[in-house]
Amino acid sequence: VNSLEVRELAYAYPDGTQALFGVDLTIGRGERVALLGPNGAGKTTLVMHLNGILTAGHGLVRVAGTEVRPGTLKEIRQRVGLVFQDPDDQLFMPTVRDDVAFGPANMGVKGEELERRVKNALDRVGMADRADRPPHHLSFGQRRRVAVATVLVMEPEILVLDEPSSNLDPAARRELAEILRSLDVTVLMVTHDLPYALELCERSLILSGGVIAADGPTRSLLADP
Ligand code: ADP
Ligand code: ADP
Repeated sequence: VNSLEVRELAYAYPDGTQALFGVDLTIGRGERVALLGPNGAGKTTLVMHLNGILTAGHGLVRVAGTEVRPGTLKEIRQRVGLVFQDPDDQLFMPTVRDDVAFGPANMGVKGEELERRVKNALDRVGMADRADRPPHHLSFGQRRRVAVATVLVMEPEILVLDEPSSNLDPAARRELAEILRSLDVTVLMVTHDLPYALELCERSLILSGGVIAADGPTRSLLADP
């Protein structure tokens, strides 16, 4: 089963703006893929279809074989982990541990299983030693890592990151790259940071004017004039 399949996805906003014109793409398990493209290309609109914030006007989206539709949203939102550009949109609890525990606790996970999952997620982003801190005492780069942990703890099929390298200093940028490389999860990252795409993603998609204009090895796409 592929992590993600998008077929003939078209979408127009209520005001009539056609943002997607028949997008087709498949992402296999364990791939790390960059989604590139100019402003207004439809990247945000596409991402909003992956976890059902928007539902297909035309076409379909499948995550791990399950179609995104009103009846599957609960399952889909667990399987698609969205990491927003601003970690402060994702962190709102008194401590890092509480923020990471929030999602699974909401799904009814508790006790030792909850503890195990929280510890595992914090370990994966190198933040286990900061579990008792308030998120707002952490650096921006650390907050972004905690935001990644709040999503990993849900054991998603696919991790979708919006501009993961934005606002990071060189050290934080490197740390996050290492973390993303070490994960055994499918990753789709929306980015304008071509060096980051080159470093982390074997494959890139270029979205332009609401269609996939290119899909292939990042190295060759970015070498194109
Ligand atoms: P990107 O994320 O690549 O910058 P978007 O998905 O935000 O692109 O936008 C794609 C197109 O849809 C653009 O023409 C944009 O102006 C339009 N658009 C985005 N959101 C809305 C909205 N809420 N209502 C109307 N048009 C929108
Ligand atoms: P990004 O650069 O992260 O893709 P955008 O700057 O394209 O984001 O859009 C930021 C927000 O504004 C999004 O929520 C998008 O839906 C909304 N938006 C973009 N274009 C329009 C538009 N023409 N009308 C209404 N909302 C829009």
